[in-house]
Amino acid sequence: MTTTESFPLAFDTTPSAARRADAEREAILADPGFGKHFTDHMASIAWSFDRGWHDAVVKPYGPLQLDPAASVLHYAQEIFEGLKVYRWADGSIRAFRPEANAERLQRSARRLALPELSTADFLAAIERLVAIDADWVPTAPETSLYLRPFMIASEAFLGVRAAHGVDFHVIASPAGAYFPDGVKPLSIWLSQDFSRAGRGGMGAAKTGGNYAASLLPQAEAYEQGCQQVLFLDSEERTYVEELGGMNVFFVHRDGTVVTPALGTILEGITRSSVMRLAEERGHRVEERRFTVEEWREGVESGDIVEAFACGTAAVITPIGRLKARDFEIGAPDAEPGALTMSLRDELTGIQYGRLPDHHGWMRRLA
Ligand SMILES: *Cc1c(COP(=O)(O)O)cnc(C)c1O
Repeated sequence: MTTTESFPLAFDTTPSAARRADAEREAILADPGFGKHFTDHMASIAWSFDRGWHDAVVKPYGPLQLDPAASVLHYAQEIFEGLKVYRWADGSIRAFRPEANAERLQRSARRLALPELSTADFLAAIERLVAIDADWVPTAPETSLYLRPFMIASEAFLGVRAAHGVDFHVIASPAGAYFPDGVKPLSIWLSQDFSRAGRGGMGAAKTGGNYAASLLPQAEAYEQGCQQVLFLDSEERTYVEELGGMNVFFVHRDGTVVTPALGTILEGITRSSVMRLAEERGHRVEERRFTVEEWREGVESGDIVEAFACGTAAVITPIGRLKARDFEIGAPDAEPGALTMSLRDELTGIQYGRLPDHHGWMRRLA
């Protein structure tokens, strides 16, 4: 697919005539929740088979014009990203590793036969949007502006092939503190009947279809009094993969940290950052196959002392308990692990500018 731009796109900006008044915006930012409120603008770039990427714009936030035959609605040719933008004490606005999101969107695009958007154009889109909606980046502790870039097949065509018309958009949504009352351990439900991905499937791509596959087991988790589902490999139903939208880690008594190997799981940017921070502290970090049985025996023998989940939304969350049909590991009110909490403090410290950014992870947007 000929998609690489030789020069970055220029964005046209149409400011919204319906910008929310300061008071209304402040009221939203005082209690934003997650994914409920959206800023005044969005960024969009169109792609066609003939023209490549074109028509880069920042425009008023609003409904999309989509033909009912748009192939995304029928065949789910869609990918997305999620990243957070933080307001630092000095007033500057920073994004956490946005280049990594741009690169992952390119990998997802390849798997879904969508055109790749260059890192420069991806970054320009988020920079333009954040610049015009800078007042929407909240200031309260542990809050952020969540960015949701996504790409959809918009061509009106019911034939089954990669679409010749595609749109990329970025929307932004203020996000409140994930744990307003302090960090609470998760209870997770082991899905023994359903898988989210299989060998050769889309597990490594960030695509809506994987989420659609997770909703029924997620509903099962709620029925079981759990907040999240843990998926196993689809062939042997033995190896731990990940939660619906978070990667998992296990901490051994000797300090070794284990996380499932890549392949059918999503390569989290939080996951890779946690691995890096743990290695820098001298922990041995292993990416490998890890069975539920190893988890159960490790907790029984005292060899496994902590488990946690990680992703952009919650950063790092302790796992208190795994509930399965015939057994349980841990307890719902288990104390969060020491390494879990200290990695969480370090990562959020870097993100909010409380700690130095030795890795060059924080990109200044405004
Ligand atoms: C996005 C996502 C993650 C976490 O990735 P981060 O880059 O850390 O936010 C983990 N698993 C799945 C299935 C995801 O979609």
